[in-house]
Amino acid sequence: MEIDPKRYGGKQLLRREIPLSSSLFEQALQQHCFKKIPGIRKEKGHAYCNRCNASDAHLQSIACQKCDQTHLYCRNCIQMGRVSACEQLYEWTGPEPAWPVHTTPCAWNGELTVHQQVAANAIDRAIQLNDRLLIHAVCGAGKTEMLFQGITSALQKGKRVCLATPRADVVRELLPRFREAFPSVAMQALYGGSPDKTGDGQLILATTHQLLRFYQAFDVLIIDEIDAFPYHADSMLHFASDKAKKTACASIFLTATPRKKEKQAIKANTLPHVFVPLRFHGQPLPVPSSKICFGLNKKLKKGNLPKGLLTWLQKRTNPTRQVLLFLPTVALADSLQKDAISALYPFAKKIQSKNPAETLIRTVHAADKEREEKVQAFRNREIAIILTTTILERGVTFPSVDVAVLDAAHDVFDEAALVQIAGRAGRSPADPTGEVVFFHEGRSRAMDQAVKAIQDMNHRASKL
Ligand SMILES: [Zn+2]
Repeated sequence: MEIDPKRYGGKQLLRREIPLSSSLFEQALQQHCFKKIPGIRKEKGHAYCNRCNASDAHLQSIACQKCDQTHLYCRNCIQMGRVSACEQLYEWTGPEPAWPVHTTPCAWNGELTVHQQVAANAIDRAIQLNDRLLIHAVCGAGKTEMLFQGITSALQKGKRVCLATPRADVVRELLPRFREAFPSVAMQALYGGSPDKTGDGQLILATTHQLLRFYQAFDVLIIDEIDAFPYHADSMLHFASDKAKKTACASIFLTATPRKKEKQAIKANTLPHVFVPLRFHGQPLPVPSSKICFGLNKKLKKGNLPKGLLTWLQKRTNPTRQVLLFLPTVALADSLQKDAISALYPFAKKIQSKNPAETLIRTVHAADKEREEKVQAFRNREIAIILTTTILERGVTFPSVDVAVLDAAHDVFDEAALVQIAGRAGRSPADPTGEVVFFHEGRSRAMDQAVKAIQDMNHRASKL
């Protein structure tokens, strides 16, 4: 029978995720290529979802049209397709997939800085020894390039590697860079709505949600941006990433803004770690400045922009830098008045003079259907000023931008978010500085913590 173990190996799937004809699937079951696992299991009076491990409170009764019974289904992992008590998950138990051994898989021939190299060596060693390792590298340290050496070692041994991250934007940003670095390696990028769906690559780039479909699949699991929403606070995603690992598996965690849990583990030395304090171009991180705007919230709610923003735009040291303008909510971004936006046109024209002014300013948010196109257009400098929610706080690199945060004291801007947002500026060696301004009506603790964290990192870097 011709079923490719690479397609199903290391996965637990619903029947509808297995595109085999009934007869072929029956045949595969008879040959013990798949093992059946109930979608929902009962244990000591409690029910659990076998895909995401959610229990009672997340499971709900449904009068099922398929089986005509009333039974439980899982609401917790429903965005990956419904797991019901009347359905099975199918785990591949056929022949182990044989992943190719690559002699020289890596085509990247750039050079690492001394600090990147220290981290790259540690990652390589952890991968060879199936260890755990945390890399704490400042925004713009060049984390991705630090991974290439270790991934190369893994591929040279015929191992399967996954790089997972909470954000789909990050997956999309990484894919072309990995394709370029590992041109001969079968690779897939998986996220909600991704063109790749089969997940049969030796090298998988995926959102952490996609790990729910994997089971004992990877020899190396790298989790980028471990502190990002929703991974950092979602036990389901931690369960999924544990489940996706083989028993012997290297776990590499990357972050620029460790949260309390990681900071404690670093302090207590319970998690091996390497700190990379310097950006790859050697310049310090831009330190945010703050501008108080009285009546800011009222103004924003009425759809107006604060005068302070226009004054700042007027006085920027480099008026040709693009502008990332962060807003706390989609509602605020959508409610901005036409006049308010028009007031930005002259500044947009200074940044890019070819296109008509009104096309140079765009708003983007999580549910935006044109999100990918807009981010790409901003990258191509076809958009001069982009108004965004926190979706662009991390994982995206634009070579020459200034950054403004409106209502920086709002709850959504926690310390990690503000450090990440500030980290968008000055990323390119050609323009290693950039302005970061927090517009506010009263400083928050998070704002102070973010500024202090950035100053601390710059201080540690300056002592090297
Ligand atoms: Zn579930």
